[in-house]
Amino acid sequence: MINLVTCYENGEGTEKNVEKAFYWYQKVGENEVKLVCNECKQLYIDYQWCQQCNTKRFQQDFSKWTSKNEFVDKFIQEAQLNAKNSYEFLEWIPYNILSGINYYDKGGFSEIHKAIWLDGPIYSWNFNKQQWNRCNFQTGYEVILKTLNSSSDIDSKFLDEVYYLYLVVILFFYA
Ligand SMILES: [Zn+2]
Repeated sequence: MINLVTCYENGEGTEKNVEKAFYWYQKVGENEVKLVCNECKQLYIDYQWCQQCNTKRFQQDFSKWTSKNEFVDKFIQEAQLNAKNSYEFLEWIPYNILSGINYYDKGGFSEIHKAIWLDGPIYSWNFNKQQWNRCNFQTGYEVILKTLNSSSDIDSKFLDEVYYLYLVVILFFYA
């Protein structure tokens, strides 16, 4: 499975496919023997995921980002505090971290664009560097962008939908 990740990541013997690489990366995680956290010495609850320590790390950064929408901030914070693995939480990221934004399709209510998230989503904590490890396959991580006409479109139903979608969705706000 690890070999599959590398093959899809680099396009070795197959077409390059970041979605498939990430899929197999997660499969590795599901099947790996759970190990112990380097910091608190407690058993990981999922692949390289210590909820206790990661909750603290997320919490320390709460003051470093804001969507300028209290409701959205709270929703993201709660997802981060309750995350039991690396694909159960949301992050707020700055717009300038996206590149190659291209029109992709028209959804039910809005346009959909594709883009590359340069440093990619968090998947574990790096104890040596004391920072998050991010999944970017060297070339960035492909994401879907959903455009909203105004931040008033955001309610709990919409956010729940975003949260349960497998794809990473980033919200655009128009002032
Ligand atoms: Zn820990």
